[in-house]
Amino acid sequence: MAFTVVAFIAFACARSLDAGPAVPLVWRLACAIVLALLVVAIPRTKSTWVFGGIGVAYTLVLLAGLALNVVGLAEPLLWALPAIVVVSVCAAPLWLTPAHFWIGTALFYAAGTPLLLSLPDPRGDVSVVCWMWILIAVPTSAVFHFGFYWFRRNHFLLEDRLARLAATDPLTGLQNRRAFLEQAALRLSKLDSGAKVSAIFLDIDYFKSLNDQFGHAVGDQALSDVARVLKELTAAADIVSRIGGEEFALLHDAALRPAAQLAETLRAAIGRIARPDGQLSASFGVAEYRPGESVMALLDRADEALLRAKYSGRNRVCAERATLVDPVRLTWSHVREDGGAASQPIRQQWDDFWLTSHFQPLYSLSHQKQVGFEALLRGEREDGAQVPPVELFSPKPFTDQGELDRTSHALHLSNARRLIPDDAWVFLNILPATFVADGYPDQLAEIAQSAGIPPERVVLELLESHGGSVDDMSRAAGQYRDHGFLIAVDDFGAGHSNLDRLLRIRPDLVKLDGELIRAKSPGADQPILPKLVSLLHQAGMLVVVEGVETTEQLILAVESNVDFAQGYLLGRPAPSVTPPDAVHRRIDHAFDVIAEGRAHQHALFESEVRPYRQALDAGVDAWLKGVPLNDAFYDLAQMELCISCFVLDDTGRQVGHEVPGRASVIDGGSLHPVANPRDARWDHRPYFRNAVLRPGVPITSSPYLSLASGRPCIAVTVALQSATGRCVVGAELDWSLQRLPWPTAEHW
Ligand code: GH3
Ligand code: MG
Ligand code: MG
Repeated sequence: MAFTVVAFIAFACARSLDAGPAVPLVWRLACAIVLALLVVAIPRTKSTWVFGGIGVAYTLVLLAGLALNVVGLAEPLLWALPAIVVVSVCAAPLWLTPAHFWIGTALFYAAGTPLLLSLPDPRGDVSVVCWMWILIAVPTSAVFHFGFYWFRRNHFLLEDRLARLAATDPLTGLQNRRAFLEQAALRLSKLDSGAKVSAIFLDIDYFKSLNDQFGHAVGDQALSDVARVLKELTAAADIVSRIGGEEFALLHDAALRPAAQLAETLRAAIGRIARPDGQLSASFGVAEYRPGESVMALLDRADEALLRAKYSGRNRVCAERATLVDPVRLTWSHVREDGGAASQPIRQQWDDFWLTSHFQPLYSLSHQKQVGFEALLRGEREDGAQVPPVELFSPKPFTDQGELDRTSHALHLSNARRLIPDDAWVFLNILPATFVADGYPDQLAEIAQSAGIPPERVVLELLESHGGSVDDMSRAAGQYRDHGFLIAVDDFGAGHSNLDRLLRIRPDLVKLDGELIRAKSPGADQPILPKLVSLLHQAGMLVVVEGVETTEQLILAVESNVDFAQGYLLGRPAPSVTPPDAVHRRIDHAFDVIAEGRAHQHALFESEVRPYRQALDAGVDAWLKGVPLNDAFYDLAQMELCISCFVLDDTGRQVGHEVPGRASVIDGGSLHPVANPRDARWDHRPYFRNAVLRPGVPITSSPYLSLASGRPCIAVTVALQSATGRCVVGAELDWSLQRLPWPTAEHW
């Protein structure tokens, strides 16, 4: 078209060479300027109709310019001949759609024909010019008009198809990542101020297993099904894209809350798609656009929320984290005083129910009294029905877990002030993320002070089994301690907890997971709690055992030297605090049972071991008189529990061979590399040290795990002076066959 403008100017200039009356040049050049402006306007058109309108205007101006140029010429038809051909060729491609083309063509010829007919009669030989028009101009312009249109249209269609292919995901027909980013950036750049847009990011759960177990065709079908759901349930204005393998993104014209509701609808719909082993599910992250940010920044926040949805169990919608508000003001403005007496508990509105505090007592076993209460969060509906914990604690699109955590602290502390005796600790559960949140130590201290509970009375129970950076936790623990709070690690023995983390956080108290109270050492049916408690005491930590439900467990807790106990046997969580009398009797009873049991057990142990000590005494006498080792200890070795008899020198190394006993272990089993006692020295063992302390007196060791047999054993030993110097003679007895409980005292 630009070429036509140039041709028109050339035509106007050429017309000036022919003498005779003519329209002033300036008018004809004005036509050229209008044409040039229309050409410039074409790329800026927003719709194909405007584009077509410009085309019509362009051809009409061109025809008018042509008419002005031929005014006064002797042979106007002859002059117009090439120009008309050029005009029709150039006019053709202007109308890209068939409708535009036919309308444009009709207008073009409707305007052109009167022009031709209005041209003055040519002088001279008319027939030559007419024949030239009929044989050259009409077919040439018709062929070029239609042909050129056809060529340009195909070219445009191809271009359009290529562009669409490059922007589309072939499997699902949705936009691909590149197109999504381009379109989203365009949408955000044109956003009216105040308009809301949110991004929804979703990832199908356990998709790899679908592929791996049932093949890629099934995986592909699932992707298509999800894409279909997305197309069906989103508005036409939403930008929907498959952004990667089994990840999809949407840009939705709405604020965060409605966008999360849409995500929830999509989640439910995807949950109805079948897969061979059940139903599909997807996790969602939603974030709202913040003015000025890039698409990538928006998607990053949605992705972070998606990750949280994945980590908190999948098949759920998580919204981006709210920008942090001052938790103190937030929580205190939330807590609603219900009026009533100062000893009445208060509750707090949350979603469509109320949050309330329940308290479960902790007892000091030695003092036999309540020393603290663990505050537990409960949800209560208006009709008094309890909200199930899954609902109460399940991550919701709009509730930052930390917000619930912080709110519960404020609520529990103000209820503790009302309900709990002044000399008792308040145990508060705290999530690792809240525990390490910047500034929370100060805020919690402020909350505690305003609730009237000094931080020294508050024990923070860190749910350490949830994981988290141990460095951050130990740093935060220091800050809480500076305020006077005590720190407890909750559920030790479950989840991520291990001894190294414990030693770095250095809590004041350790709460042992309820399962540990039931744990027995394999092979010996002996509880492992006593040793664990002793280990934690050595590390300077007080021990609380949770989940005490039976008298037997209470007895074990007392016997294991646990400091504090908690469990249904001692008191269930309740909205009010119950008097401790009945529990006091129960603990006292446990102590009685233990005292009796200990005496009985000691007697039993003694009666079991005495014959071995006597046999050892007799064997030693014979050996000192020169009877060979095998003969001297024959009687002892033949006794039921005897694994072996041995002689150790002053440094604890074995002298001579050992005498195998009746209970000796035939197969060394997996302990083979350490099975030979001759390789080792045993002077560090209590049975050696204790014997040396009391020479000539046969002593019995407490049970230990024998490296030689891999079984629980005890040893009877005696230290004596032989011809070659001081030695310790003894026998190892198999204690795994005995069903006697292990005595809990650490040294005998
Ligand atoms: P998660 O619940 O944590 O999201 O686990 P997942 O198994 O869904 O996630 P992961 O990222 O481990 O696996 C994604 C799989 O998607 C890996 C890849 O084999 C598969 N995948 C990617 N693109 C396609 C595709 O076009 N067709 C099919 N059938 N599978 C695809
Ligand atoms: Mg993935
Ligand atoms: Mg996945």
